[in-house]
Amino acid sequence: PDAKPSNFLRQIIERDLAAGTYADRRFAGSPGDAAHHAGGPLDAARIRTRFPPEPNGYLHLGHAKSITLNFGLAEEYGGVCHLRFDDTNPEKEEQEYVDAIAEAVHWLGFDWTAPDPERPGTRREHRYFASDYFEFMYRAAEALVEAGLAYVDEQSAEQMRANRGDFSTPGTDSPFRIRTPAENLARLRAMRAGELADGAAVLRAKIDMASPNINLRDPALYRIKRATHHNTGDAWCIYPMYTYAHPIEDALEGITHSICTLEFEDQRPFYDWLLETLCDLGLLARPRPHQHEFARLNVTYVVTSKRKLRQLVEEKHVDGWDDPRMPTLVGLRRRGYTPEAIRLMCDRAGTSKAGGWTEYAALDAALRDDLDPKAPRASVVLDPLRLKLTNFDAVFGSLAHREPCHAPVHPAKPEMGRRDFAFTNEVWIERDDFMEVPSKGYFRLFPPRAGADGSPLAGSRVRMRFGYVVECTGMEKDADGRVTAVLAEIVPDTKSGTPGADAVKVKGAITWVGVGDALPIEVRLYDRLFTDPQPEADGRDMLEVLNPASKKVVHGYAEPGLASAQPGDRFQFERHGYFVADRVDHRADRPVFNRTATLKDTWTT
Ligand code: ATP
Ligand code: MG
Ligand code: MG
Repeated sequence: PDAKPSNFLRQIIERDLAAGTYADRRFAGSPGDAAHHAGGPLDAARIRTRFPPEPNGYLHLGHAKSITLNFGLAEEYGGVCHLRFDDTNPEKEEQEYVDAIAEAVHWLGFDWTAPDPERPGTRREHRYFASDYFEFMYRAAEALVEAGLAYVDEQSAEQMRANRGDFSTPGTDSPFRIRTPAENLARLRAMRAGELADGAAVLRAKIDMASPNINLRDPALYRIKRATHHNTGDAWCIYPMYTYAHPIEDALEGITHSICTLEFEDQRPFYDWLLETLCDLGLLARPRPHQHEFARLNVTYVVTSKRKLRQLVEEKHVDGWDDPRMPTLVGLRRRGYTPEAIRLMCDRAGTSKAGGWTEYAALDAALRDDLDPKAPRASVVLDPLRLKLTNFDAVFGSLAHREPCHAPVHPAKPEMGRRDFAFTNEVWIERDDFMEVPSKGYFRLFPPRAGADGSPLAGSRVRMRFGYVVECTGMEKDADGRVTAVLAEIVPDTKSGTPGADAVKVKGAITWVGVGDALPIEVRLYDRLFTDPQPEADGRDMLEVLNPASKKVVHGYAEPGLASAQPGDRFQFERHGYFVADRVDHRADRPVFNRTATLKDTWTT
């Protein structure tokens, strides 16, 4: 693995560790709170980060960046990263997503457990639900009201919007802003008790309607919404706003560094205001968490928005969330990308405040770097053409003979063993390994032909990899002139690995699979889902640049050893790239492989 380059977040963490910023911490919350022990005992020497997905869809490549960053930093500095489901929005969240998210984080290789200081020798789970803090959040809201720092606004949504102003115009105070704390408390309790209709009122912080930062113009803290929540059921008809809930979640769990993407930079003043205020009111303890923003990961040819991905699924442009063309982690996994490759790509993309695009090719490069040293090799023919060895009987004494051949499982790792297969009287070769009339520099199979001066030229000689040298002698065609078979003769005494095998020099080597030995396979060749590197540039609809050729299914042949492939097993198919046995559809009696990525180097002989 690459050495991890430093970045501004590491510098902040190292500065905080050196200064002892979080060295003296008590439990968050006050004794008796449901949330008192939310994050468990705080170990002074450690940092705490969190990955806070909203369980409203499947995780994608962008989330992988956030996961590798947050879990990675915690790992590196001996801290803990919490997996927190940010489930404050009742309408869109489902258990299915909660489970899928946890599985995806595990699959990426991260773990939300840490040694439990209260019970030595055991580990504690750091998996949290924001909705478990609803009661505390509500109590904090009452405390803000009592302190004159929040009020119930009963303007219409339209009035509120109009009174907010914009970047050049200060906002206008709501007529409800002058309500007394007692009045506001009564109205807030009425909101909670279900006495007001959905949308009839919101609780707002009382900060400054003239602030140059619009996020500080009395932001909403609670809204009324009658909706069943996946965790709290119908216990609540008011729900906290994300901007109010998130800082509290961080504080209750004892998060030290709350890392988020740059869109939240303008929210940081409110994050700070809220936590400072709640610390002053005695509801939270200092030192409190701090928010730090970094530029989100953008990858070419990829859309990373759960909403857009849902659209692709629901409108059936792809075959589900785990379609191998999807940038979801379940899709990437099914496509054959390894967790190591995804993490490597995220690390290489770096972490900074400057946005930009990462080339999709960086993911394929990371995959190759990960798999090249470890993936077993296999011979596979994807566009089969029959090659008939016309002197087979003469050389081996029988047409039914099976000449045993073998190859290393990995060319650089003899300890991985060898693969065995048979050279038979007919073999499958790639259709493009034969040219009736060779183009210049083509060194694979072509038949005898007349030279420029009319003199006869012999057919080409090539090595059948791990087998014999053969000389092309002709071809067979169907009525339409399409080549149906290539004819060749074995050059005796040229078997790979035998003495003198290299005496006959050839310029080309081709992949083959014995017809009598071949395992029929289905292979799904995937390409990028969009034809434009920035599918949504200039507000374009991504559907306009969907790649119609993003999936191609072919039927080919593999060497017999692939019969024992298990779903999820990865291989390098020689000359073709990296492939995986499909997790969902692959069966021993119906092998199905997905192409993850092609090989970097194009095959040139
Ligand atoms: P989406 O817009 O796809 O729904 P989101 O940010 O709303 O994404 P969350 O579930 O809230 O989805 O995200 C969890 C975490 O992942 C957040 O901290 C968010 O900042 C981070 N994240 C999401 N997309 C990216 C990205 N492209 N690069 C880096 N971090 C990301
Ligand atoms: Mg979100
Ligand atoms: Mg979003």
